[in-house]
Amino acid sequence: MTAKARYERPLIKKLESNMPNKFGLRTEFEPLTHIDGVSVDSLIADYGSPVFVLSEQKIRSKFKAARQAFETRYPRVQFAWSYKTNYLSAVCNVFHQEGSWAEVVSGFEYDKAIRHGVDGSYIIFNGPDKTEEDLRKAITNNSLIHIDHLDELYMIQDIARETKQKPKVAIRVNMDTGIYPMWDRFGFNYENGQAWDALNKIMFSGLLELVGLHTHIGTFMLSPNAYAIAASKLANLAQRVQQKYSHEINYIDMGGGFSSRNTLKGAYLPGTDTNPSIDEFAEAITSALMNSEYRPKTPPLLILETGRALIDEAGYLLGSVIANKRLSDGRRATILDVGVNLLFTSFWYDHKITPAQEFTSYTEDTVIYGPLCMNIDVVRENVSLPLLNKGDKVVIHYVGAYNMTQWMQFITLRPNVVMVDLDGKPHLIRKNESIDSIENLEEIPTHLSHFEL
Ligand SMILES: *Cc1c(COP(=O)(O)O)cnc(C)c1O
Repeated sequence: MTAKARYERPLIKKLESNMPNKFGLRTEFEPLTHIDGVSVDSLIADYGSPVFVLSEQKIRSKFKAARQAFETRYPRVQFAWSYKTNYLSAVCNVFHQEGSWAEVVSGFEYDKAIRHGVDGSYIIFNGPDKTEEDLRKAITNNSLIHIDHLDELYMIQDIARETKQKPKVAIRVNMDTGIYPMWDRFGFNYENGQAWDALNKIMFSGLLELVGLHTHIGTFMLSPNAYAIAASKLANLAQRVQQKYSHEINYIDMGGGFSSRNTLKGAYLPGTDTNPSIDEFAEAITSALMNSEYRPKTPPLLILETGRALIDEAGYLLGSVIANKRLSDGRRATILDVGVNLLFTSFWYDHKITPAQEFTSYTEDTVIYGPLCMNIDVVRENVSLPLLNKGDKVVIHYVGAYNMTQWMQFITLRPNVVMVDLDGKPHLIRKNESIDSIENLEEIPTHLSHFEL
């Protein structure tokens, strides 16, 4: 008797492009061959692969649109560039040229803002970790210190008593805005009375000048309404200070956290289609402020510390295909020279990836790996891409925020960063690392300097 042939389930694979799928037309992988008129090929030829590329034009246009969204709705608006989002000096200076103050969260970032030439009185000093030395410097420079906790408040009061200076302070307030988990680890809570208590301590001491109220409710926020709630809670605090002490604050600082155009992992639709626009955030914040009961003689300056939403789309990461292979389950895998070491945000986003050259109409679901010898080095778990060959180039989109500050030096070295100026001319703004830049920081004790094998 002949053995019965084993049944195998037929596998039907769709290979045409330009067919609508659940994301609509498959435009994700339209090739991107040029950035602001400069070809991806020439950028890689001149600066290597991988390479980060920033568009100065895009940064400025995003900034101008954001400023306009707020200035058309509210009389007094000021932006402060969030250094930790991208503190490359060229990037910071584009924002400073556009009129942004500096928003820093460490002594290192503070010093960087000073070196860029920002006057101390235009530096907002946030964060839970300000050393006594940092605070003394910030007080001498007349910077705006946003107090995070009572230990910091007491330290500032001690310095004020000793130096007879009157530091300019605000408190950071955290609150329930309907978004959970709540960011309650920074600043003083609104609902349980901590924030009001801190304000009374400041006003009663007479040692400090209360100039503002601050909040930063989260990051990559998708709910404009959460900002409306936050703004009305800050307005309520301002009103209580005005009533009790006849004191008017100078500003309300709503922090940052507006979403960029990226797509969060697990989202059904691309972020370009679903995420709120900056106008929606501006509308929520400014109407909540103006509709509140707080009625000062001069409307408080509205400060925005938005980072991600202004820079993400201006950043591109160019890379090359190292190899293709089949995984044990038959899936196609493509290995790039770009991994999570350079793309920290790939832990949260499904980054848009496009080829940098024309390609065939065949596509296949592909896993995109980085070059690291580490299992978690996955750039995209599953993306429908045309078949890329070894040496082909790809562009990863919306990478301007956080990747150039949170990147790790692990296994490979950090690459060049280039900014394309308004005339389409590329400039190197951060040199790639070499073995020397790493080893210059190391010391070998004499007894370890020699070995024989
Ligand atoms: C990180 C941070 C920002 C910027 O946040 P984005 O999400 O990049 O807009 C603003 N303010 C404070 C206090 C921050 O810590």
